[in-house]
Amino acid sequence: MKAMSCKLLVIGAGPGGYVCATRAGQRGIDTVIVEAERPGGTCLNVGCIPSKALIHAADEYDKVVRFAAGDSALGISAADPRIDLAKTMRWKDEIVGRLNGGVAGLLKNAAVKVVQGWAQFRDGKTVEVETETGLQVIHAEQVVIATGARPVELSALPFGGRVISSTEALALRQVPDRLVVVGGGYIGLELGTAFAKMGSQVTIVEALPRIMPQYDAALTRPVETRLRQLGVDVLTNAKATGLTPSGDGLTVETSDGQRKVLAADKILVVVGRAPLTAGWGLEMLDLDTDGPFLRIDEHCRTSMRGIYAIGDVTGEPMLAHRASAQGEMVAAIVAGEKRTWDSVCIPAICFTDPEIVVAGLLPDAARAIGLEIRIGMAPFQANGRALTLGQDAGFIRVVARADNHLIVGIQGVGAGIAELSAAFSTAIEMGARLEDITAVIHAHPSQSETLMEAARNALDHSQRNHARQIHTQPAT
Ligand code: FAD
Ligand code: NAD
Repeated sequence: MKAMSCKLLVIGAGPGGYVCATRAGQRGIDTVIVEAERPGGTCLNVGCIPSKALIHAADEYDKVVRFAAGDSALGISAADPRIDLAKTMRWKDEIVGRLNGGVAGLLKNAAVKVVQGWAQFRDGKTVEVETETGLQVIHAEQVVIATGARPVELSALPFGGRVISSTEALALRQVPDRLVVVGGGYIGLELGTAFAKMGSQVTIVEALPRIMPQYDAALTRPVETRLRQLGVDVLTNAKATGLTPSGDGLTVETSDGQRKVLAADKILVVVGRAPLTAGWGLEMLDLDTDGPFLRIDEHCRTSMRGIYAIGDVTGEPMLAHRASAQGEMVAAIVAGEKRTWDSVCIPAICFTDPEIVVAGLLPDAARAIGLEIRIGMAPFQANGRALTLGQDAGFIRVVARADNHLIVGIQGVGAGIAELSAAFSTAIEMGARLEDITAVIHAHPSQSETLMEAARNALDHSQRNHARQIHTQPAT
């Protein structure tokens, strides 16, 4: 097969790679992208999109189950609810299929050439791809590595049989009666909650003292309450040690030395994701690493001239929108624009029940860098819209510098607040102060009014000369 040449070669068509290739193509750069599987990467095929579809279906089913149980304060009743998970999965697959087509269309319209197959580096400017029609060699002036990440496997619990990763969980055709989830982080909580709502008896096993340990207890408390209501058992300070000899259960050891056996039809292991740095010829290159990740600078340049890296393969936070923003920036740089990574915050949403949104600095992180801060909190219990939705758990919290009221962080937990994430990150990215938020007219009734109230509370605390101030101590 004849060798191809291009100005820009992108390896991996996830939200990092396909955005980079599309933006480069739109700028008139001769671009080739190589993808081993379907366009859209982890996020579109086995991550963000299918998981959110399943979470939505589970929420809908849970509502009907509650109506059928006769505990609807709204006066709604229903009878005999059922979920046909195979049908739910077909609906989810259709959404994924439509979006696959959308990504392929974007690449085509941007005149990006797509090569289907696994890319392997020969050297820093040459890649070979085993395609259906033979070996394709591609020479490129510049290369972007956007190979993403893979699920971490526990040596005591290798994937296979009852032990599944998120990919298999998102393709189940039947709701497992007993689901044990190892890892109480993003995926464990999102999917554990969804399966509990669909009828599984769920146990979450988390090694650390709290679920979602990277966030403070105030943010995770409403999620813990809801998990209890759903009948989910949460075992913290507990590690999975392996399968029982008969293979139908999980042995768990708690930090106080106790051993437990948890019967399970499926064991979902979701203990993090590792960058995909093997199998594509890293050894043929001379790239610096940063722990398990490829090391990059503020332009996403690696240690080799002409080779960039973006997305999950480059580090935390492993989020689709970070990968896309990096991809967009690299396309601009390759086109000759002067660009540097200067984002103040990368918002994160955990689609638990209720949802958690984190933008900018948590209070402890702000203190840790020596900031003297003031915090304003407002609960959804006092918000008319939240009450009319029947979902008043949670709050919004604003973290601002004590001296000039510059907002450095906004976090919240509450039903449906994922959609407020842009309001949070826009405020931080645009350098808003508390007064800017209180000066904005927030539409009524909306949950966004709680953001205004939180900012107002932070200011009230300051005007009352610290009388009701919550935390203002500088870091020690
Ligand atoms: P990926 O999306 O992993 O794409 C990499 C692509 O490269 C893959 O398609 C792979 O096949 C291809 N590839 C790798 N090596 C080669 C090679 N040698 N040759 C050819 N092709 C190759 N993030 C969010 O922001 N929000 C969410 O709600 C969210 N939910 C998630 C839910 C789950 C269950 C999971 C697993 C992840 C979730 N994530 C979420 C994380 C998100 O999916 C990743 O951060 C994102 O996909 C990273 O994008 P990427 O482009 O770096 O890599
Ligand atoms: P995670 O890092 O969010 O959580 C893993 C959890 O497993 C941690 O709480 C950790 O303490 C625990 N753990 C580790 N080893 C353990 C063991 N041996 N036994 C018990 N618990 C153990 O990882 P994840 O849930 O696999 O998700 C991976 C990444 O994917 C996330 O960090 C995030 O970047 C991304 N993601 C994002 C979203 C979203 O944005 N909504 C959703 C899903 C995934």
